[in-house]
Amino acid sequence: MKIISINAGSSSLKFSLFEMNNEEVIASGLFERIGIDGSKYTIKFNGEKVSQEVDLPSHVDAVNILLDKLTDLGIISSLDEIHGVGHRIVQGKDVFKESVIVTDDVMEKLDAIKGFAPLHNPANMLGIEAFRKVLPNTPMVAVFDTAFHQTMDEATYLYPVPYSWYKDYGVRKYGAHGTSHRYIAESVKQILGKEEYRLISCHIGNGGSITAIKDGKCVDTSMGFTPLAGIMMGTRSGDIDPSIIPYVMEQEGKNASEIIDDLNKQSGLLGMSEYSSDMRDILERCDEHDEKAIVARDKYVRRVVDYIAQYYVLLGGADVIAFTAGVGENSIPVRRQICEELACLGIKLDLDKNNVRGEVVKISTDDSAVIVYVIPTDEELMIARDTLHLINR
Ligand code: ADP
Repeated sequence: MKIISINAGSSSLKFSLFEMNNEEVIASGLFERIGIDGSKYTIKFNGEKVSQEVDLPSHVDAVNILLDKLTDLGIISSLDEIHGVGHRIVQGKDVFKESVIVTDDVMEKLDAIKGFAPLHNPANMLGIEAFRKVLPNTPMVAVFDTAFHQTMDEATYLYPVPYSWYKDYGVRKYGAHGTSHRYIAESVKQILGKEEYRLISCHIGNGGSITAIKDGKCVDTSMGFTPLAGIMMGTRSGDIDPSIIPYVMEQEGKNASEIIDDLNKQSGLLGMSEYSSDMRDILERCDEHDEKAIVARDKYVRRVVDYIAQYYVLLGGADVIAFTAGVGENSIPVRRQICEELACLGIKLDLDKNNVRGEVVKISTDDSAVIVYVIPTDEELMIARDTLHLINR
């Protein structure tokens, strides 16, 4: 039983082909620069990597070549082996509270909400439309980054602003990275072997969000109306005083969308360090006693600690804190600093066990008041699982 997970961008299409009997990736790859000069694809399978420059005028061309290659390279023997295609959709608003089988009605609803994620949703839809054209009889499933957060209560998802902003314009907290946080929640449920648990899931990569989870359900999450909210990130500011925006607009003669662009792309680690958005570069500079890099790292850690502390109280304590994504899975010193700043909660890290990258490992000591785990996330697998589940239903 094979399922393809798709993450389509405006000029790219990433795929993972899973054999669902053992949830193994049998091929994965990327089609890039679709509709732009110099387009190419890369397909990895069986320890091999095939890469070629090809003309890719549209997403439909990319899907046609992808399916041809899967058979040409002997990865599958016929297209009938593909039982379903799962598509990542960034924003589902409060219209989509869980993954759904794609129908014409779903496409209409997606079209109606695309303005809430204008850079991502239309691109995600291009991926669905291309696959529907090329594989019209294969079931498609849409999996939303926001759906997991739909269990937040009103007091959590509403902002303390005029209610009409919510009623008339849909201004509320939607969150993001929901598929990743759901994967972490499922992994923790399996590890603990029970349905009842309080989990703080820390997805900290270039983008980052922290989610409070009780018994598998999201209670609160750090991203908001858009992914700009919450913790500090590689290039995003996270939460700031909104009055800064008109003040800097006036100082720099910029409009609001230019300032939002600065907050999305020129802030965070990059903005504070004036050097790099990549935590590895920042840590290297910290070792050289670069002051701006040290302050940027300390601020990054502080914001993560702030949210963990907030969610610890919200959940009435925590059974597990899980670290995932680029920094969470790989950065030994950042995890260490975060846990040291949480020592007053009785959290104790085992420094030897923390010496790990990209593996599921318990990194807290046996007498730590909260169990701390590293759990590599797998959004593609989560999309494939949802697809299989919905098709079988
Ligand atoms: P995205 O949000 O784009 O998916 P990732 O989850 O891949 O990002 O995270 C990317 C970030 O992970 C990089 O910017 C880098 O800061 C961090 N990272 C990756 N490997 C390491 C490492 N070994 N040590 C510290 N940070 C790392």
